[in-house]
Amino acid sequence: MSGVCGSCNYQCKTVTPEILELLGLLPSRGQDSLGLATTDSRKGDEPTRHWKELGPPDQWFSRKTGGPLVRKLLRELRGDVGIGHVQQATTSLLTSADAQPHYCDRGGKKIVVANDGGIPFCARERNRLKHKGYPFASCCNAEVFAKLIGDHLWTHHGTEEDAFMQVGRTLSAAYSLVAIMPSKRLFAMRDPHGFHPLWYVENSDGFHVSSESHIISGFGQPCEVEPGTFVTVEVSGKVEARRFARKPIRRCLMGYYYVTRPDAISDCSDGTIDEIRFQLGRRLAQEIKAAGYPPPEVVIPVPFSGISAATGCAAELRVSLRLGIMKDRYAGRIFLQDERARSTLVQQRFAINPQAVEGRVVVVVDDSIVRGDQARVLVPMLRAAGARVIIYTATAPPHRHPCFYGIGTPNPRRLIAHGKSEEQVREEIGTDYLYYLSLESTFQVLGSHNFCAACFTGDYPLPVPSGGGSKA
Ligand code: SF4
Ligand code: MG
Repeated sequence: MSGVCGSCNYQCKTVTPEILELLGLLPSRGQDSLGLATTDSRKGDEPTRHWKELGPPDQWFSRKTGGPLVRKLLRELRGDVGIGHVQQATTSLLTSADAQPHYCDRGGKKIVVANDGGIPFCARERNRLKHKGYPFASCCNAEVFAKLIGDHLWTHHGTEEDAFMQVGRTLSAAYSLVAIMPSKRLFAMRDPHGFHPLWYVENSDGFHVSSESHIISGFGQPCEVEPGTFVTVEVSGKVEARRFARKPIRRCLMGYYYVTRPDAISDCSDGTIDEIRFQLGRRLAQEIKAAGYPPPEVVIPVPFSGISAATGCAAELRVSLRLGIMKDRYAGRIFLQDERARSTLVQQRFAINPQAVEGRVVVVVDDSIVRGDQARVLVPMLRAAGARVIIYTATAPPHRHPCFYGIGTPNPRRLIAHGKSEEQVREEIGTDYLYYLSLESTFQVLGSHNFCAACFTGDYPLPVPSGGGSKA
């Protein structure tokens, strides 16, 4: 799971401060690693330079500790074209070699790529390129992209546009990527299904691109990079979009439930992600009422991504919304630790407000239940604080299959609902009632079926390695 950004300035001004700012605004998309690359269009022969490290942006760029590093980056990575990337390690331990961006170089020319997405048969592509003599420093899909683009450019002697066309038409993958090419142009490219978002703003000063609309909205009205297109941007101000494929749209549903920040513009309706989650919460309330549970007395969100839906749920149920579960605002996401360490960390990060739950029928609203370790820890904590009846709910359906398209949910054995009935999951969590909002309700709220729901249904829009899901 990750986020990308990029900028090209038409007045020869450095974009490095802007890329550092944008990286600091993308924490919801990753806090395990970050990186940036820039180039100076006036220095024709100078290859693109990059810097990348493990850790969240605020660790590296904070006022207290980041001063000397920020000054060094602003000095040494000056450039009028730049890209940036943040990443959350979801499936494996990250090393600094896995951090993005990645590059491919030949004869002093360099292609630098950062990607939000995944290649289902990444190892196969990497081995094919290794056999052709391309060295690899990481297991990251962005390195495969950099080398694939380089292979098309230098082996087939086409233009940079031809190389992107070829990769787009031949590679089966999910991607929203940004790249700096040897021509010193910025490229932004989105896969034909549009799995992950990619937005841009163009104004008289330049071009700005990002995974999240809200972080570039200060430059103007964000527009989507259309699925199946790539955009080329020159410092002269020439911008061109080319379509390389047209396929059914399959936007990632997890973006609506969880990944995207609530103030981001929705790419499938007129409102924000917050409005969509609010409506999902209303639906949830209607379905809970119909399920015949004891009448709810209070609604509490699992912070922070459950807040918008809990607000809608409480409004529809006409009961109070209380912050019954408190979470350390500064704690990052927990993906990597072993089971026992994860459960201790979850416990340390949450606290229950007993006044909100004591003696009450409590509806807990979570965005989704993936591994289930939060729910396993929160339910006993709520009971210990005096909750009389616990109705644990999620706005996403049961997460039963792994994701190969960049969100990187774990091995199926680590998914609490994999191969289990809802009753078995309820028992494992220890809640009195467990309710998942149905997929059909999500589609009704979103107003279409043009989404990837593979981790819920096992129905993968792109082929995945065998054993990926029931219908893979
Ligand atoms: Fe998103 Fe799930 Fe599809 Fe992955 S499998 S892209 S997480 S909806
Ligand atoms: Mg959650």
